[in-house]
Amino acid sequence: MSFIKGLRCIDCDTEYRLEDSITVCSKCSSKGLGFGILDPVYDYEEIGKILSTDVLESRIPSLWKYRELMPISDKASLVTLGEGGTPLVRGTNLSRKLGMEELYIKNETLNPTFSFKDRVFSVIITRALENGADAVAAVSDGNAGCSAAAYSATAGIKCRIFTPSFAVVSKLIQMSMYDAEIYSVRGTLIDTGMLVIEACEKYGWYNITTAKLLNPFQTEGHKTLAYEISEQLNWEPPDWVITPVASGDSLGAIWKGFKEFHTMGFIKKLPRMVGVQGEGAAPLAIAFEEGKEFFEVELPGPKTIADALCIGMVPGSWPSASLRESNGYAVAVSDTEILDAQRLLASSEGIFVEPSSASTLAGLMKLLGQGVIASDETVVCIVTGSGLKVLDIAERHYRKPVSIGANLEDLEKVLQ
Ligand SMILES: [Zn+2]
Repeated sequence: MSFIKGLRCIDCDTEYRLEDSITVCSKCSSKGLGFGILDPVYDYEEIGKILSTDVLESRIPSLWKYRELMPISDKASLVTLGEGGTPLVRGTNLSRKLGMEELYIKNETLNPTFSFKDRVFSVIITRALENGADAVAAVSDGNAGCSAAAYSATAGIKCRIFTPSFAVVSKLIQMSMYDAEIYSVRGTLIDTGMLVIEACEKYGWYNITTAKLLNPFQTEGHKTLAYEISEQLNWEPPDWVITPVASGDSLGAIWKGFKEFHTMGFIKKLPRMVGVQGEGAAPLAIAFEEGKEFFEVELPGPKTIADALCIGMVPGSWPSASLRESNGYAVAVSDTEILDAQRLLASSEGIFVEPSSASTLAGLMKLLGQGVIASDETVVCIVTGSGLKVLDIAERHYRKPVSIGANLEDLEKVLQ
């Protein structure tokens, strides 16, 4: 059996049955784009009869150890490449450098396609197969497309990715190696999204775009990050969890994961959430700072070195509501702060992440400086994608090798 009870509107709390087959709340969606996002709800009492902290500890680390809290039937054949179960690394050197007591790095670069999106696509492609799909399509400028392509490849279904023209070449190469068909679309992300919706309707493809607005189930993989962090910290969540934000779907999902474990009695307290964006593409941080709603901030030409976070508007109230509920914070960081943090993380802890992921460490440093986060508080920074995915940016500022002859005299000269 499946423990999912239905879908609940995050704006008005109306509940829908799964059989209704809708993706947004029919009462709220008429208010405009981003309203009426639906979220899966489960029968936590029934799940509690099966799951306990002891049971969870006895299972092998993997996203699917939380299967009862996933929106799939127990007969589903899981599409998995071994996602989840990533390490929570104690950043001892970094803590010392930043004058902190307890800092942890949740290292999502170790997922099968080197980013946290694998949590999403293991779940979504499993659902696509359950729905009888033989072809899928998505809008993506990077990591989501790579992950969608990889999981489609292993599931044996056709994958089409529609990218904006600013997509990073190395990520396009990765998608292509998994045999996705890639279309570079001249237009905005919204235009591209509309094209994919129309194409999916016309050709019968299953839309796997990572927007909760289009697919209420797409955040369910992300929430397992909260489950893992809770368990890895011995069921005592940190004071703060810092995560990068584009659409903010993952921020909302991680907050949901902590709330679910709190509801089930697995953890006694909840962390405060922090969303980090790049300056120049920070609609959530601006809305937070100015006390505005998500639809009141729209940036015409978003720009940041954090390519995975390049977004001009937040599509829905899910992330800002999560910040409010958790008494959290949103912050924007500059390109320089991001690149400095990228190098600091790699040189201090041996973890090389892409600029978008380094934003969390940059955000932490900023909030420590502002006194928002205290040095004796426990902090988890989530790093979402590998540095090898965006080598062209690192290439611009890495220390070049010193050229020498194969003799000690040459070496001696440069050592001095
Ligand atoms: Zn509603």
